[in-house]
Parts: sequence; C-alpha cells; structure tokens
Amino acid sequence: MELKILISRQEIAERVAALGTEITRDFAQESVVLVGVLKGAAIFLSDLARQVQVNATFDFIGVSSYGARPNPAEELQHGWDSTGEVRLTKDLDQPIADKNVILVEDILDTGLTLTYLKNNLLARKPRTLRLAALLDKPSRRKMPIRADYTGFTIPDEFVVGYGLDYAELYRNLPDICIIPRE
Ligand code: 5GP
Repeated sequence: MELKILISRQEIAERVAALGTEITRDFAQESVVLVGVLKGAAIFLSDLARQVQVNATFDFIGVSSYGARPNPAEELQHGWDSTGEVRLTKDLDQPIADKNVILVEDILDTGLTLTYLKNNLLARKPRTLRLAALLDKPSRRKMPIRADYTGFTIPDEFVVGYGLDYAELYRNLPDICIIPRE
C-alpha cells in the first residue's frame, strides 16, 4: 500500500506549538485537564501537552461505537458513519467538576463521537469545556459541532499516522499520510 504524505512532521510540530501557545494564553494563571480520546489522540496529546505552559493534568477516555463497523478495506473505500451511539470503554479516572477541561481528539469527522463525548462531559459540570482536534474534515459533518482548537482542515481522505490507524497499524508514522482509495 502506497502512502502519500499529506502533512509533514515539521508542519505538525509548528501547528501543535501554535495551538499550545493559544491554550497557554486562554488559560493563563489557571490549570487545565487534558482529556485524550483513546487511542488516536495519544500522540497529539503528548506533543500538545508539552507546548502548554500552564499546569496541566492528563486523563483518558475510551469509546467504541455501536453498530457493525465494516472491515478496514470497506471503511477505507466507503467511509463509515457511526450511529452516534457511543459506549464508554474507559471512563475518566478523576472527577472534572469545576475544572477547565480540554477534550483532545485526533479527527473531527461526522462529529457524532465528539457530540456524544461533549454532552457526556458537560453533564459532569466542568468549569469550562473546550475541544481540540488535530484534524477536521468539515465536508463529512452531520452534527453542528466545531473544535475550539483545530490543527488542520483536510479534504475527505482516509488518513493515518501520528496516532491515526488503519486496522491498528500506522499509528506510529511521524507524518500524516493519505491511504489512497484506489
Ligand atoms: P466521527 O467524528 O465521525 O464520530 O468520528 C471520528 C472518529 O472516526 C475518529 O476519532 C477516528 O477514529 C475515525 N476517523 C474518521 N476519519 C478518519 C480517517 O481519515 N482516518 C482514521 N484513521 N480514522 C478516522
């Protein structure tokens, strides 16, 4: 399978640093809880966290979507829309009531997953809740949701690398690459 680089590691590093600067400015003198969505956001979170110059703690949340997910080849070919019915596979370790929470996600696609997570976290009454998405595919959106911090807006391509997988592979690629749909 031939992978084509869409966003290089240098571009990612520069953009993540800029997002870190924004977050630092927005939460000056405060502290934040960075909540990473497993597993795709793990690498973005670890790089972003090191660019945030305010007190920060980490937590992680795991989700899996109901509905029959197609095999990876079909998902690549036709995309896949989760039903929006999301199940938590790992909950936060700590309460977030009255905390400044930044939900950190790899990619905002249809918006179903983040809409569910946003509502789930808002029910716990954080002081503030913001969304950070490394990538945004606005052309696929089904729910009216946008990120407060967006790395890159990308076309409707299937991407891997920098945390994003294809059948659990390629998460460790340093660049964000397109898997051609043929
Ligand atoms: P949605 O916004 O549609 O609810 O789902 C977002 C999730 O779909 C992401 O967290 C990611 O797991 C998956 N996803 C969407 N687009 C892509 C893509 O281009 N590549 C990969 N690897 N995963 C994607």
